[in-house]
Amino acid sequence: MKQRIIYGPVPSRRLGRSLGIDITGPEKTCNFDCVYCQLGCTDKKVSGPEDVCGVSTEEVVEGLKNHLKKVKQLDYITFSGTGEPTLNLALGEMIREVRKISNVPICVITNSSLVSRKDVRDNLAQADLVVATLEAGDEKTFKAINRPVSGIMLDDIIHGLKALKGTGPRLEIEVLLVDSKKDYPTNISDRAVDELVQAVKFINPDVVEVFTVSRPPAEDFIIPVSQQRLTEIAQKFDDALGREMVRLVFKGLRRKITGIKHGNMRDEVYDLILRRPCTVDQISSALEIDAKDLAGIIDGLLGKNEIVEITAEDGKYYRAV
Ligand code: SF4
Repeated sequence: MKQRIIYGPVPSRRLGRSLGIDITGPEKTCNFDCVYCQLGCTDKKVSGPEDVCGVSTEEVVEGLKNHLKKVKQLDYITFSGTGEPTLNLALGEMIREVRKISNVPICVITNSSLVSRKDVRDNLAQADLVVATLEAGDEKTFKAINRPVSGIMLDDIIHGLKALKGTGPRLEIEVLLVDSKKDYPTNISDRAVDELVQAVKFINPDVVEVFTVSRPPAEDFIIPVSQQRLTEIAQKFDDALGREMVRLVFKGLRRKITGIKHGNMRDEVYDLILRRPCTVDQISSALEIDAKDLAGIIDGLLGKNEIVEITAEDGKYYRAV
């Protein structure tokens, strides 16, 4: 199935109702191979933007114009998807062009890997909101959890995020905490948490969000952190940064009825699953598709082996093959 650049709206606990723009496709394109990645393992890590043949600004504008005719009442337009958006160096130009055709706030979700580069920070500075992930405050934990391509150093990322703060967009740091079924390094030991808290304090973002795995991870030995440990860790962030800066997320999506005009529902469902494994309820809520219609679409995609069913601790998810 041909991949489209614009997808969703995606149900997002942080962004509400967000229309996604995927600028690195067609396959997962990333310089990390995170143990918790909801897209599965990174088969081939790219070393930098120079390795990526992403989509063009013209393709983004054309795709978005078509989508905006069908989807109303968006909370955000978000650059994210099947890889790391900062790997496409046209990102800044794309954001400027999107602003010419829409007043919806623009977010970029990044793995932070390239923020030590000034050209990448200049691109990110065009957004209204940058959501940057940071799962470690020490190199050893960083390498274990994010499994970056060689040459990416955590210290450069931390200083890059510090330099990004104050360049324009609101900066939110997303801290995903993981536990493990086996003896594998995680970011929830007292030592790892202390390093992480110090790193976030140094960056001084507008908000830090602390949460755990809620979708099937790339590695099956990765499991969600207990509610009790999450609360203890959030308390450490509260103590260091001030409670008003820290959000602790257990679960939950905001829901809003907006009346989407559907085109090809099958493609819309596939595009959503491709970027984010979802349950039937999540798809139904995001795309406003009746459960009966959705069951037929899911069966069709399963029958053609375009998606697979994965059983997680909190239910059945569908992920693209
Ligand atoms: S979670 Fe994000 S940064 Fe990590 S491997 Fe997946 S796409 Fe890349």
